[in-house]
Amino acid sequence: MRIGIPHCGNAYVIAEALVQKLGNGKNELIIPPPTSHRTLDLGVKYSPVEACLPFKLTLGNLIEACELGADTLIHARGTGVCRLGYYVKEQEQIIRDLGYDAHFFTLDVSQNRVKSIMRLIKELTNDAPWSKIISAFSFAMGKLFALDEMEKVIHKVRAVELEKGRANQVYRQAVKAISEAQTIREVRNTAKEYVKKLGQIPKDPKADPVKVGIVGEVFVVLDPFANMDIEMELGKLGVEVERTMSLSRWVKYRLFLNYLGIDEWEQVHKAALPYLRRSVGGDGWESVGEKVVYARDGYDGVIHLAPFTCMPEIVAQNIMPSTEEDIPVLTILYDEQMAKPGMITRLEAFVDLLKFRRKRRRK
Ligand code: SF4
Repeated sequence: MRIGIPHCGNAYVIAEALVQKLGNGKNELIIPPPTSHRTLDLGVKYSPVEACLPFKLTLGNLIEACELGADTLIHARGTGVCRLGYYVKEQEQIIRDLGYDAHFFTLDVSQNRVKSIMRLIKELTNDAPWSKIISAFSFAMGKLFALDEMEKVIHKVRAVELEKGRANQVYRQAVKAISEAQTIREVRNTAKEYVKKLGQIPKDPKADPVKVGIVGEVFVVLDPFANMDIEMELGKLGVEVERTMSLSRWVKYRLFLNYLGIDEWEQVHKAALPYLRRSVGGDGWESVGEKVVYARDGYDGVIHLAPFTCMPEIVAQNIMPSTEEDIPVLTILYDEQMAKPGMITRLEAFVDLLKFRRKRRRK
């Protein structure tokens, strides 16, 4: 089998790690080239015009994987009230209409997640023993947690570094080194080494960064191509970014702690209750609740990211201006028409506003 996967941030590193440990010589992992404008063009060309950006980008990734010879494709399915439930069938049909005879494996991200992931791994490894699967899974998770830890650190360092761009260089080296690590001990040591390197980057002692929380639809929040590297751009503007969502958090709660009755979003849903009492699909409920939580935690602002036409986030966007918490929210809607300079101009104006409000508050 030649297995192709779509991109979402650093998720490919986990797939690589699983194949590294479970590969049996029969299966090959085809990682499509990093998401690019070509990927987007392919996705836009073959998707229904009203499809959301994650649909178009992941379709473009899958087509690029087919071009490289993938004959088995993995994609995600969800249930609920948004269009994620239709992704699988539509993407399958489009790929077949393009003449690729690929077999599809579906990853259920809403229900039966553990079962779905384990079934997928079992099938792709021709029934490897559970002991081997569990050990490979822990190794891949080790890499995922290390990468997310690096991201948390870089969000703070970017805002205060003296030479802009230095932290990004170290981060890129860290991703490469973690992706190449062969054992879990090597992963941990590499992460430690790079956290230290990030800590040694010269910082501006007078820096007093404004703090912004990022909320919104999970794919655009986590994928730097989809969100036009918004975290990096905010770092250049001297903003410290915080975001709750991460792949490691998703794994920790959705695959394990949720089954023990621990609800990752309990506090956030409680905070949203005066304004929205139930899920509206996707991450809309969480976006509203997170705005309230960031306001209570003393953040200066919230940036809300959403794909254009994303129904759950449109609901959230419309509720946010009427909540009583006094914190500015900038909603950015992404689609194929959006240009990066436009986003940067809006970020600059928003950051100026946050600085002005902070100064006024302190007076
Ligand atoms: S949450 Fe929004 S962007 Fe994500 S699949 Fe649903 S409609 Fe599309």
